[in-house]
Amino acid sequence: MENTYDYIVVGGGSAGCVLANRLTQSGRSSVCLLEAGGIDSEFKIKIPAAFCKLFKTNIDWNYETEPQEHVNGRKMFWPRGKVLGGCSSINAMIYIRGNKRDYDSWAEAGCTGWSYNDVLVNFKQSEYQPRKPSSHHGSSGYLNVANLQEPNILSHTFVKACEEVGVPRNDDFNGPSHVGAGLYQVTQKDGARHSVANAYLEPALKRNNIQVVVQAQVTKILFEGKKAIGIDYANPYAQSDRKTVFAKKEIILCGGAINSPQLLMLSGIGPEKHLTGLGIQCRHDSPGVGQNLQDHLVAPIAYACTQPVSIGKSDNLYNLARFVLTRRGPFTSNVAEAGAFVSMANRSDVPDFQIHFGPAIFLRHGTVAPKEHGFSVGPTLIYPKSRGELTLRSNNPFDPPAIDPRYFSDKSDLDLMVEAFRFCRTIVDTKAFTPFRGKELYPGPHVVDKPDIEAHIREWVETIYHPVGTCKMGTDPMAVVDPRLRVHGIEGLRVADASIMPSIVGGNTNAPAIMIGEKASEMIRQDAQDFG
Ligand SMILES: Cc1cc2nc3c(=O)[nH]c(=O)nc-3n(C[C@H](O)[C@H](O)[C@H](O)COP(=O)(O)OP(=O)(O)OC[C@H]3O[C@@H](n4cnc5c(N)ncnc54)[C@H](O)[C@@H]3O)c2cc1C
Repeated sequence: MENTYDYIVVGGGSAGCVLANRLTQSGRSSVCLLEAGGIDSEFKIKIPAAFCKLFKTNIDWNYETEPQEHVNGRKMFWPRGKVLGGCSSINAMIYIRGNKRDYDSWAEAGCTGWSYNDVLVNFKQSEYQPRKPSSHHGSSGYLNVANLQEPNILSHTFVKACEEVGVPRNDDFNGPSHVGAGLYQVTQKDGARHSVANAYLEPALKRNNIQVVVQAQVTKILFEGKKAIGIDYANPYAQSDRKTVFAKKEIILCGGAINSPQLLMLSGIGPEKHLTGLGIQCRHDSPGVGQNLQDHLVAPIAYACTQPVSIGKSDNLYNLARFVLTRRGPFTSNVAEAGAFVSMANRSDVPDFQIHFGPAIFLRHGTVAPKEHGFSVGPTLIYPKSRGELTLRSNNPFDPPAIDPRYFSDKSDLDLMVEAFRFCRTIVDTKAFTPFRGKELYPGPHVVDKPDIEAHIREWVETIYHPVGTCKMGTDPMAVVDPRLRVHGIEGLRVADASIMPSIVGGNTNAPAIMIGEKASEMIRQDAQDFG
Protein backbone atom coordinates (compact mmCIF):
# COMPACT_ATOMS: atom_id res chain seq x y z
CA MET A 1 0.00 0.00 0.00
CA GLU A 2 1.22 3.49 -0.79
CA ASN A 3 0.77 4.75 2.75
CA THR A 4 2.58 1.82 4.39
CA TYR A 5 6.23 1.93 5.49
CA ASP A 6 8.45 -0.39 7.50
CA TYR A 7 8.92 2.28 10.18
CA ILE A 8 7.11 5.45 11.11
CA VAL A 9 9.18 8.00 13.04
CA VAL A 10 7.10 10.63 14.79
CA GLY A 11 9.00 13.92 15.19
CA GLY A 12 12.01 15.14 13.22
CA GLY A 13 14.01 16.47 16.17
CA SER A 14 17.35 15.56 17.75
CA ALA A 15 16.58 11.87 18.12
CA GLY A 16 14.06 11.52 15.27
CA CYS A 17 16.43 12.71 12.52
CA VAL A 18 19.05 10.21 13.71
CA LEU A 19 16.52 7.37 13.46
CA ALA A 20 15.33 8.50 10.04
CA ASN A 21 18.90 8.32 8.82
CA ARG A 22 20.06 5.12 10.48
CA LEU A 23 16.93 3.09 9.70
CA THR A 24 17.22 3.89 5.99
CA GLN A 25 20.97 3.33 5.88
CA SER A 26 20.98 -0.31 4.74
CA GLY A 27 18.45 0.41 2.02
CA ARG A 28 16.39 -2.57 3.15
CA SER A 29 13.73 -0.68 5.13
CA SER A 30 11.48 2.25 4.33
CA VAL A 31 10.80 5.10 6.77
CA CYS A 32 8.16 7.76 6.95
CA LEU A 33 9.22 10.69 9.15
CA LEU A 34 6.39 12.96 10.26
CA GLU A 35 7.19 16.40 11.64
CA ALA A 36 4.58 18.78 13.04
CA GLY A 37 6.64 21.85 12.08
CA GLY A 38 7.88 22.95 8.69
CA ILE A 39 11.20 22.81 6.86
CA ASP A 40 14.16 24.60 8.43
CA SER A 41 14.57 27.31 5.81
CA GLU A 42 14.54 30.31 8.17
CA PHE A 43 17.98 31.95 7.80
CA LYS A 44 18.19 32.93 11.47
CA ILE A 45 18.41 29.22 12.34
CA LYS A 46 21.89 29.26 10.81
CA ILE A 47 23.08 32.26 12.87
CA PRO A 48 24.26 30.95 16.24
CA ALA A 49 23.89 34.23 18.15
CA ALA A 50 20.29 34.63 16.94
CA PHE A 51 18.88 31.57 18.68
CA CYS A 52 16.69 33.52 21.08
CA LYS A 53 15.21 35.47 18.14
CA LEU A 54 13.55 32.17 17.17
CA PHE A 55 11.52 32.10 20.38
CA LYS A 56 7.78 32.74 20.08
CA THR A 57 7.96 32.46 16.28
CA ASN A 58 6.15 29.88 14.13
CA ILE A 59 9.01 27.40 14.65
CA ASP A 60 8.51 27.36 18.43
CA TRP A 61 5.84 25.34 20.24
CA ASN A 62 5.86 28.27 22.66
CA TYR A 63 4.81 26.36 25.77
CA GLU A 64 4.14 27.79 29.19
CA THR A 65 4.17 25.96 32.52
CA GLU A 66 1.41 25.93 35.08
CA PRO A 67 1.88 28.65 37.77
CA GLN A 68 4.89 27.56 39.83
CA GLU A 69 4.08 27.68 43.53
CA HIS A 70 7.70 28.03 44.66
CA VAL A 71 8.70 30.44 41.90
CA ASN A 72 6.41 33.31 42.86
CA GLY A 73 3.46 31.69 41.08
CA ARG A 74 5.08 32.44 37.72
CA LYS A 75 3.99 30.69 34.52
CA MET A 76 7.31 30.02 32.89
CA PHE A 77 8.09 30.17 29.18
CA TRP A 78 9.29 26.90 27.61
CA PRO A 79 10.43 27.23 24.01
CA ARG A 80 10.65 23.95 22.00
CA GLY A 81 11.60 23.59 18.35
CA LYS A 82 8.67 22.94 15.98
CA VAL A 83 10.61 22.51 12.76
CA LEU A 84 12.89 19.93 11.13
CA GLY A 85 15.76 19.49 13.58
CA GLY A 86 13.41 20.06 16.54
CA CYS A 87 15.17 21.76 19.43
CA SER A 88 18.55 21.28 17.72
CA SER A 89 17.37 23.96 15.28
CA ILE A 90 16.76 26.55 18.01
CA ASN A 91 19.14 25.55 20.79
CA ALA A 92 22.35 27.13 22.06
CA MET A 93 24.49 24.41 20.42
CA ILE A 94 26.52 23.46 23.52
CA TYR A 95 27.84 19.92 23.13
CA ILE A 96 27.95 18.13 26.49
CA ARG A 97 27.37 14.48 27.27
CA GLY A 98 27.04 14.72 31.04
CA ASN A 99 28.77 12.67 33.67
CA LYS A 100 29.76 9.01 33.37
CA ARG A 101 28.00 8.43 36.66
CA ASP A 102 24.66 9.59 35.16
CA TYR A 103 24.59 6.68 32.73
CA ASP A 104 26.10 4.18 35.15
CA SER A 105 23.24 4.95 37.55
CA TRP A 106 20.71 4.18 34.80
CA ALA A 107 22.36 0.80 34.27
CA GLU A 108 22.49 0.12 38.02
CA ALA A 109 18.73 0.82 38.21
CA GLY A 110 18.08 -1.97 35.70
CA CYS A 111 18.61 -0.26 32.32
CA THR A 112 20.97 -2.89 31.02
CA GLY A 113 23.13 -1.65 28.17
CA TRP A 114 23.04 2.04 29.19
CA SER A 115 26.20 2.41 31.32
CA TYR A 116 28.63 5.08 30.11
CA ASN A 117 30.91 2.43 28.65
CA ASP A 118 27.94 1.04 26.74
CA VAL A 119 26.71 4.36 25.34
CA LEU A 120 30.16 5.83 24.62
CA VAL A 121 30.16 3.96 21.32
CA ASN A 122 26.91 5.72 20.33
CA PHE A 123 28.23 9.15 21.33
CA LYS A 124 31.36 8.51 19.28
CA GLN A 125 29.38 7.13 16.37
CA SER A 126 27.44 10.39 16.09
CA GLU A 127 30.44 12.71 16.30
CA TYR A 128 32.68 14.34 13.75
CA GLN A 129 35.31 15.87 16.02
CA PRO A 130 38.05 17.91 14.38
CA ARG A 131 40.37 17.61 17.42
CA LYS A 132 42.96 14.87 17.23
CA PRO A 133 41.53 11.36 17.57
CA SER A 134 41.13 10.02 21.11
CA SER A 135 39.39 7.17 22.84
CA HIS A 136 36.70 9.64 23.98
CA HIS A 137 35.74 11.05 20.58
CA GLY A 138 34.54 9.98 17.18
CA SER A 139 35.90 11.42 13.96
CA SER A 140 33.61 9.92 11.34
CA GLY A 141 30.08 10.69 12.55
CA TYR A 142 27.50 12.99 10.98
CA LEU A 143 27.40 15.67 13.69
CA ASN A 144 30.03 18.39 13.59
CA VAL A 145 31.32 19.16 17.08
CA ALA A 146 33.52 22.22 16.82
CA ASN A 147 35.43 24.80 18.78
CA LEU A 148 33.86 28.27 18.65
CA GLN A 149 35.20 30.37 15.77
CA GLU A 150 36.07 33.42 17.87
CA PRO A 151 35.49 33.01 21.59
CA ASN A 152 35.13 36.36 23.31
CA ILE A 153 37.87 37.68 25.59
CA LEU A 154 35.38 37.66 28.47
CA SER A 155 34.84 33.92 28.01
CA HIS A 156 38.58 33.30 28.28
CA THR A 157 38.57 35.56 31.34
CA PHE A 158 35.83 33.49 32.94
CA VAL A 159 37.95 30.34 32.60
CA LYS A 160 40.99 32.08 34.14
CA ALA A 161 38.85 33.43 36.97
CA CYS A 162 37.54 29.93 37.70
CA GLU A 163 41.12 28.70 37.98
CA GLU A 164 41.82 31.53 40.44
CA VAL A 165 39.06 30.26 42.74
CA GLY A 166 40.22 26.65 42.48
CA VAL A 167 38.08 25.25 39.65
CA PRO A 168 40.55 23.42 37.40
CA ARG A 169 40.75 24.20 33.72
CA ASN A 170 39.10 21.55 31.57
CA ASP A 171 39.65 21.73 27.81
CA ASP A 172 37.43 18.74 27.11
CA PHE A 173 34.23 18.38 29.13
CA ASN A 174 33.50 15.20 27.17
CA GLY A 175 36.88 13.65 27.85
CA PRO A 176 38.32 11.91 30.89
CA SER A 177 36.64 14.27 33.40
CA HIS A 178 33.50 16.35 33.27
CA VAL A 179 34.50 18.65 36.15
CA GLY A 180 36.26 22.00 35.65
CA ALA A 181 35.99 25.21 33.64
CA GLY A 182 36.48 25.74 29.94
CA LEU A 183 35.10 26.89 26.62
CA TYR A 184 32.22 24.80 25.35
CA GLN A 185 32.39 22.92 22.09
CA VAL A 186 29.41 23.54 19.86
CA THR A 187 27.36 21.81 17.17
CA GLN A 188 28.46 24.16 14.42
CA LYS A 189 30.05 23.80 11.00
CA ASP A 190 32.15 26.69 9.68
CA GLY A 191 30.66 29.01 12.28
CA ALA A 192 27.01 28.23 11.44
CA ARG A 193 24.55 26.02 13.33
CA HIS A 194 24.82 22.36 12.41
CA SER A 195 21.43 21.04 13.49
CA VAL A 196 20.54 17.38 13.52
CA ALA A 197 18.45 18.04 10.40
CA ASN A 198 21.60 19.31 8.65
CA ALA A 199 23.77 16.55 10.04
CA TYR A 200 21.56 13.46 9.68
CA LEU A 201 18.48 14.23 7.62
CA GLU A 202 20.02 16.05 4.67
CA PRO A 203 22.30 13.11 3.73
CA ALA A 204 19.43 10.63 4.23
CA LEU A 205 17.19 12.58 1.84
CA LYS A 206 19.36 11.36 -1.04
CA ARG A 207 18.00 7.85 -0.45
CA ASN A 208 14.80 6.67 -2.09
CA ASN A 209 13.54 4.73 0.95
CA ILE A 210 12.68 7.78 3.07
CA GLN A 211 9.58 9.94 3.03
CA VAL A 212 9.51 13.14 5.09
CA VAL A 213 6.18 14.83 5.68
CA VAL A 214 6.24 18.27 7.29
CA GLN A 215 3.35 20.13 8.89
CA ALA A 216 2.15 16.69 9.90
CA GLN A 217 1.13 16.63 13.54
CA VAL A 218 0.50 13.10 14.71
CA THR A 219 -2.76 13.06 16.62
CA LYS A 220 -3.23 9.40 17.50
CA ILE A 221 -1.60 5.98 17.36
CA LEU A 222 -3.75 3.25 15.80
CA PHE A 223 -3.81 -0.28 17.22
CA GLU A 224 -4.86 -3.80 16.47
CA GLY A 225 -5.41 -5.12 19.98
CA LYS A 226 -2.17 -4.26 21.79
CA LYS A 227 -0.12 -3.83 18.60
CA ALA A 228 0.57 -0.36 17.20
CA ILE A 229 -0.06 -0.48 13.45
CA GLY A 230 -0.36 3.09 12.23
CA ILE A 231 -0.97 6.71 13.05
CA ASP A 232 -3.34 9.52 12.23
CA TYR A 233 -1.92 12.94 11.49
CA ALA A 234 -3.18 16.35 10.49
CA ASN A 235 -1.81 19.66 9.33
CA PRO A 236 -1.67 21.74 12.55
CA TYR A 237 -2.70 24.80 10.56
CA ALA A 238 -5.64 23.06 8.78
CA GLN A 239 -6.73 20.57 11.37
CA SER A 240 -9.58 19.04 9.39
CA ASP A 241 -7.10 17.76 6.77
CA ARG A 242 -6.49 14.33 8.39
CA LYS A 243 -4.44 11.42 7.01
CA THR A 244 -3.34 7.93 8.08
CA VAL A 245 -0.10 5.97 7.56
CA PHE A 246 0.69 2.39 8.54
CA ALA A 247 3.85 0.69 9.76
CA LYS A 248 4.78 -2.89 8.82
CA LYS A 249 7.43 -3.15 11.53
CA GLU A 250 7.43 -0.42 14.19
CA ILE A 251 6.40 3.08 15.18
CA ILE A 252 8.98 5.14 17.03
CA LEU A 253 7.90 8.23 18.97
CA CYS A 254 10.53 11.00 18.95
CA GLY A 255 8.30 13.94 19.83
CA GLY A 256 10.43 15.00 22.81
CA ALA A 257 9.75 15.17 26.54
CA ILE A 258 6.47 17.06 26.15
CA ASN A 259 4.89 15.63 23.02
CA SER A 260 5.78 11.92 23.32
CA PRO A 261 3.91 11.45 26.62
CA GLN A 262 1.10 13.67 25.30
CA LEU A 263 0.69 11.43 22.24
CA LEU A 264 0.81 8.25 24.31
CA MET A 265 -1.96 9.56 26.55
CA LEU A 266 -4.07 10.76 23.60
CA SER A 267 -3.74 7.21 22.26
CA GLY A 268 -4.90 5.56 25.49
CA ILE A 269 -1.55 4.71 27.10
CA GLY A 270 -1.14 6.42 30.45
CA PRO A 271 -2.61 6.68 33.95
CA GLU A 272 -6.04 5.07 33.57
CA LYS A 273 -7.95 7.41 35.87
CA HIS A 274 -6.59 10.52 34.18
CA LEU A 275 -7.44 9.19 30.70
CA THR A 276 -10.94 7.99 31.46
CA GLY A 277 -11.64 11.31 33.20
CA LEU A 278 -11.04 12.99 29.85
CA GLY A 279 -13.13 10.52 27.88
CA ILE A 280 -10.12 8.66 26.44
CA GLN A 281 -10.47 4.90 26.33
CA CYS A 282 -7.55 3.41 28.27
CA ARG A 283 -5.74 0.81 26.17
CA HIS A 284 -2.91 0.25 28.61
CA ASP A 285 -2.74 1.58 32.16
CA SER A 286 0.79 3.02 32.40
CA PRO A 287 0.91 5.23 35.51
CA GLY A 288 4.37 6.67 34.69
CA VAL A 289 3.42 8.42 31.45
CA GLY A 290 3.95 12.16 31.98
CA GLN A 291 5.39 11.67 35.48
CA ASN A 292 9.04 12.05 36.58
CA LEU A 293 9.40 15.42 34.77
CA GLN A 294 12.83 16.93 35.47
CA ASP A 295 14.47 20.09 34.18
CA HIS A 296 17.47 22.36 34.71
CA LEU A 297 17.12 25.91 36.01
CA VAL A 298 19.46 28.89 35.65
CA ALA A 299 19.45 32.16 37.62
CA PRO A 300 21.84 34.57 35.86
CA ILE A 301 23.78 37.35 37.56
CA ALA A 302 24.41 40.20 35.13
CA TYR A 303 27.33 42.65 35.28
CA ALA A 304 28.19 45.77 33.35
CA CYS A 305 31.49 45.52 31.48
CA THR A 306 33.91 48.46 31.74
CA GLN A 307 35.32 47.86 28.26
CA PRO A 308 33.36 47.70 24.98
CA VAL A 309 34.28 44.07 24.33
CA SER A 310 31.08 42.12 25.00
CA ILE A 311 28.84 40.84 22.19
CA GLY A 312 25.80 42.57 23.65
CA LYS A 313 25.84 45.45 21.19
CA SER A 314 26.94 43.61 18.06
CA ASP A 315 23.58 43.22 16.34
CA ASN A 316 24.32 45.33 13.26
CA LEU A 317 24.68 45.04 9.48
CA TYR A 318 28.47 44.97 9.59
CA ASN A 319 28.50 41.86 11.78
CA LEU A 320 25.74 40.25 9.71
CA ALA A 321 27.86 40.80 6.58
CA ARG A 322 30.89 39.33 8.35
CA PHE A 323 28.87 36.26 9.22
CA VAL A 324 27.50 35.84 5.71
CA LEU A 325 30.78 36.46 3.91
CA THR A 326 33.40 35.05 6.27
CA ARG A 327 31.50 32.98 8.87
CA ARG A 328 33.37 34.88 11.57
CA GLY A 329 32.57 37.57 14.12
CA PRO A 330 30.10 37.81 17.00
CA PHE A 331 27.20 36.27 15.05
CA THR A 332 29.05 32.92 15.31
CA SER A 333 28.82 33.10 19.11
CA ASN A 334 26.38 30.73 20.78
CA VAL A 335 26.18 33.35 23.61
CA ALA A 336 26.81 30.75 26.36
CA GLU A 337 30.41 30.35 25.22
CA ALA A 338 32.06 29.08 28.38
CA GLY A 339 31.08 27.10 31.42
CA ALA A 340 32.09 25.20 34.46
CA PHE A 341 31.04 22.04 36.24
CA VAL A 342 31.81 22.66 39.88
CA SER A 343 32.35 20.16 42.61
CA MET A 344 32.30 22.15 45.84
CA ALA A 345 34.21 19.49 47.73
CA ASN A 346 36.74 19.60 44.87
CA ARG A 347 37.34 15.92 45.28
CA SER A 348 34.48 14.41 43.42
CA ASP A 349 34.28 13.62 39.71
CA VAL A 350 30.58 14.44 39.90
CA PRO A 351 29.83 18.18 39.93
CA ASP A 352 27.32 19.82 42.26
CA PHE A 353 26.29 22.44 39.70
CA GLN A 354 27.06 23.90 36.29
CA ILE A 355 27.76 27.52 35.41
CA HIS A 356 26.89 29.00 32.02
CA PHE A 357 28.91 32.08 31.11
CA GLY A 358 27.92 34.51 28.36
CA PRO A 359 29.77 37.64 27.17
CA ALA A 360 26.44 39.51 27.05
CA ILE A 361 23.62 40.39 29.40
CA PHE A 362 21.29 37.41 29.06
CA LEU A 363 18.12 37.64 31.15
CA ARG A 364 14.58 36.38 30.58
CA HIS A 365 15.62 34.20 27.62
CA GLY A 366 17.56 37.05 26.02
CA THR A 367 14.52 39.28 25.83
CA VAL A 368 15.80 41.97 28.22
CA ALA A 369 17.60 44.25 25.75
CA PRO A 370 21.07 45.23 27.00
CA LYS A 371 21.58 48.98 27.22
CA GLU A 372 25.28 48.55 27.91
CA HIS A 373 28.17 46.17 27.48
CA GLY A 374 27.99 43.40 30.02
CA PHE A 375 28.29 39.73 30.82
CA SER A 376 26.27 37.08 32.62
CA VAL A 377 27.21 34.25 34.92
CA GLY A 378 24.48 31.65 35.26
CA PRO A 379 24.48 29.22 38.18
CA THR A 380 22.62 26.14 36.93
CA LEU A 381 21.01 23.34 38.89
CA ILE A 382 21.93 20.08 37.15
CA TYR A 383 20.79 17.42 39.60
CA PRO A 384 17.41 18.73 40.80
CA LYS A 385 15.54 16.68 43.36
CA SER A 386 12.17 18.24 42.46
CA ARG A 387 9.97 16.16 40.19
CA GLY A 388 7.03 17.40 38.18
CA GLU A 389 4.38 16.04 35.86
CA LEU A 390 2.76 16.55 32.52
CA THR A 391 -0.95 15.86 32.05
CA LEU A 392 -3.52 16.39 29.31
CA ARG A 393 -5.90 19.33 29.52
CA SER A 394 -8.36 17.66 27.16
CA ASN A 395 -8.63 14.92 24.54
CA ASN A 396 -7.96 17.50 21.80
CA PRO A 397 -4.48 16.77 20.34
CA PHE A 398 -4.04 20.44 19.46
CA ASP A 399 -4.45 21.62 23.06
CA PRO A 400 -1.06 22.10 24.77
CA PRO A 401 -0.65 19.77 27.75
CA ALA A 402 -0.47 21.04 31.33
CA ILE A 403 3.23 21.23 32.20
CA ASP A 404 4.00 21.35 35.91
CA PRO A 405 7.72 20.95 36.65
CA ARG A 406 7.11 21.79 40.35
CA TYR A 407 10.36 23.74 40.48
CA PHE A 408 11.86 24.02 43.98
CA SER A 409 9.18 21.74 45.46
CA ASP A 410 12.20 20.08 47.08
CA LYS A 411 13.66 22.96 49.09
CA SER A 412 17.22 21.60 48.85
CA ASP A 413 17.21 22.62 45.16
CA LEU A 414 16.81 26.28 46.12
CA ASP A 415 19.45 25.96 48.86
CA LEU A 416 21.93 24.63 46.32
CA MET A 417 21.04 27.43 43.89
CA VAL A 418 21.88 29.97 46.60
CA GLU A 419 25.24 28.30 47.18
CA ALA A 420 25.97 28.24 43.44
CA PHE A 421 24.87 31.86 43.13
CA ARG A 422 27.29 32.95 45.85
CA PHE A 423 30.09 30.96 44.24
CA CYS A 424 29.48 32.71 40.92
CA ARG A 425 30.00 36.05 42.59
CA THR A 426 33.39 34.91 43.92
CA ILE A 427 34.39 34.04 40.35
CA VAL A 428 33.65 37.56 39.14
CA ASP A 429 35.37 39.03 42.18
CA THR A 430 38.78 37.79 40.97
CA LYS A 431 41.89 39.53 39.63
CA ALA A 432 41.17 38.06 36.20
CA PHE A 433 37.94 40.04 35.94
CA THR A 434 39.36 43.31 37.32
CA PRO A 435 39.88 44.92 33.86
CA PHE A 436 36.26 44.23 32.89
CA ARG A 437 34.16 44.12 36.06
CA GLY A 438 31.59 46.89 36.19
CA LYS A 439 28.59 47.22 38.44
CA GLU A 440 26.55 44.16 39.28
CA LEU A 441 23.28 45.03 37.52
CA TYR A 442 21.08 42.05 38.46
CA PRO A 443 20.37 41.54 41.24
CA GLY A 444 22.81 44.22 42.48
CA PRO A 445 25.29 44.32 45.36
CA HIS A 446 22.57 45.03 47.97
CA VAL A 447 21.32 41.43 47.65
CA VAL A 448 23.51 39.56 50.12
CA ASP A 449 21.49 37.73 52.76
CA LYS A 450 20.09 34.30 52.02
CA PRO A 451 16.39 35.35 52.04
CA ASP A 452 17.17 38.17 49.60
CA ILE A 453 19.13 35.89 47.27
CA GLU A 454 16.30 33.36 47.44
CA ALA A 455 13.78 36.07 46.58
CA HIS A 456 15.90 37.16 43.62
CA ILE A 457 16.25 33.60 42.37
CA ARG A 458 12.52 32.96 42.60
CA GLU A 459 11.87 36.07 40.53
CA TRP A 460 14.56 35.62 37.86
CA VAL A 461 15.15 31.90 37.55
CA GLU A 462 14.28 30.36 34.16
CA THR A 463 14.44 26.99 32.47
CA ILE A 464 17.65 26.26 30.61
CA TYR A 465 15.50 24.13 28.30
CA HIS A 466 16.26 20.56 29.34
CA PRO A 467 12.97 18.80 30.22
CA VAL A 468 13.35 15.00 30.33
CA GLY A 469 12.04 11.89 32.03
CA THR A 470 8.32 11.81 31.14
CA CYS A 471 8.41 8.36 29.46
CA LYS A 472 11.10 6.94 31.66
CA MET A 473 12.99 3.80 30.79
CA GLY A 474 13.21 1.01 33.35
CA THR A 475 11.72 -2.12 34.75
CA ASP A 476 9.72 -0.76 37.71
CA PRO A 477 5.95 -0.10 37.64
CA MET A 478 6.45 3.60 36.79
CA ALA A 479 8.66 2.83 33.80
CA VAL A 480 7.02 3.58 30.45
CA VAL A 481 9.58 1.86 28.20
CA ASP A 482 11.91 -1.06 28.78
CA PRO A 483 15.69 -0.82 28.32
CA ARG A 484 15.21 -1.52 24.59
CA LEU A 485 12.85 1.46 24.55
CA ARG A 486 9.76 -0.69 23.79
CA VAL A 487 6.60 0.66 25.37
CA HIS A 488 5.63 -1.68 28.20
CA GLY A 489 2.44 -3.59 27.46
CA ILE A 490 2.31 -2.66 23.75
CA GLU A 491 3.85 -4.25 20.66
CA GLY A 492 5.44 -2.43 17.74
CA LEU A 493 5.90 0.87 19.59
CA ARG A 494 9.03 2.50 21.03
CA VAL A 495 9.87 5.91 22.42
CA ALA A 496 13.32 7.31 21.63
CA ASP A 497 14.02 10.87 22.73
CA ALA A 498 14.89 12.87 25.85
CA SER A 499 11.70 11.67 27.57
CA ILE A 500 13.17 8.20 28.21
CA MET A 501 15.89 9.39 30.61
CA PRO A 502 15.16 7.83 34.01
CA SER A 503 17.08 10.66 35.67
CA ILE A 504 18.38 13.86 34.17
CA VAL A 505 22.00 13.99 33.05
CA GLY A 506 24.37 16.51 34.60
CA GLY A 507 24.68 18.76 31.57
CA ASN A 508 22.98 19.96 28.42
CA THR A 509 20.70 17.39 26.84
CA ASN A 510 21.13 17.58 23.05
CA ALA A 511 24.12 15.23 22.74
CA PRO A 512 22.37 12.68 25.02
CA ALA A 513 19.17 12.89 22.89
CA ILE A 514 21.25 12.24 19.76
CA MET A 515 22.98 9.33 21.51
CA ILE A 516 19.52 7.94 22.40
CA GLY A 517 18.59 8.17 18.70
CA GLU A 518 21.77 6.30 17.75
CA LYS A 519 21.27 3.61 20.38
CA ALA A 520 17.59 3.16 19.54
CA SER A 521 18.46 2.71 15.84
CA GLU A 522 21.06 0.14 16.75
CA MET A 523 18.59 -1.84 18.89
CA ILE A 524 15.80 -1.65 16.29
CA ARG A 525 18.15 -2.85 13.56
CA GLN A 526 19.46 -5.65 15.79
CA ASP A 527 15.92 -6.79 16.55
CA ALA A 528 15.04 -6.72 12.84
CA GLN A 529 18.40 -8.27 11.89
CA ASP A 530 18.88 -5.37 9.49
CA PHE A 531 22.64 -4.91 9.19
CA GLY A 532 24.86 -3.24 6.64
C1 LIG B 1 16.15 27.20 23.43
C2 LIG B 1 16.85 25.90 23.70
C3 LIG B 1 18.21 25.90 23.96
C4 LIG B 1 18.87 24.71 24.22
N1 LIG B 1 20.23 24.70 24.30
C5 LIG B 1 20.89 23.52 24.36
C6 LIG B 1 22.29 23.48 24.24
O1 LIG B 1 22.96 24.49 24.04
N2 LIG B 1 22.90 22.27 24.34
C7 LIG B 1 22.20 21.13 24.57
O2 LIG B 1 22.81 20.06 24.70
N3 LIG B 1 20.85 21.15 24.67
C8 LIG B 1 20.18 22.31 24.52
N4 LIG B 1 18.83 22.32 24.54
C9 LIG B 1 18.11 21.05 24.76
C10 LIG B 1 18.18 20.08 23.58
O3 LIG B 1 18.18 20.78 22.35
C11 LIG B 1 17.02 19.09 23.69
O4 LIG B 1 17.13 18.38 24.91
C12 LIG B 1 17.00 18.07 22.56
O5 LIG B 1 17.03 18.70 21.32
C13 LIG B 1 15.75 17.20 22.70
O6 LIG B 1 15.70 16.29 21.65
P1 LIG B 1 14.42 15.40 21.42
O7 LIG B 1 14.72 14.54 20.24
O8 LIG B 1 14.04 14.75 22.69
O9 LIG B 1 13.24 16.40 21.07
P2 LIG B 1 13.12 17.58 20.02
O10 LIG B 1 14.43 17.95 19.46
O11 LIG B 1 12.30 18.62 20.68
O12 LIG B 1 12.29 16.92 18.83
C14 LIG B 1 10.92 16.66 18.87
C15 LIG B 1 10.36 16.88 17.48
O13 LIG B 1 9.09 16.27 17.38
C16 LIG B 1 8.19 17.15 16.76
N5 LIG B 1 6.84 16.78 17.23
C17 LIG B 1 6.37 16.91 18.49
N6 LIG B 1 5.11 16.41 18.56
C18 LIG B 1 4.81 15.94 17.34
C19 LIG B 1 3.67 15.33 16.79
N7 LIG B 1 2.58 15.08 17.53
N8 LIG B 1 3.68 15.00 15.48
C20 LIG B 1 4.78 15.22 14.71
N9 LIG B 1 5.89 15.83 15.18
C21 LIG B 1 5.90 16.18 16.48
C22 LIG B 1 8.64 18.52 17.21
O14 LIG B 1 8.15 19.53 16.39
C23 LIG B 1 10.16 18.36 17.16
O15 LIG B 1 10.67 18.64 15.88
C24 LIG B 1 18.13 23.49 24.27
C25 LIG B 1 16.77 23.48 24.02
C26 LIG B 1 16.12 24.67 23.72
C27 LIG B 1 14.65 24.67 23.45
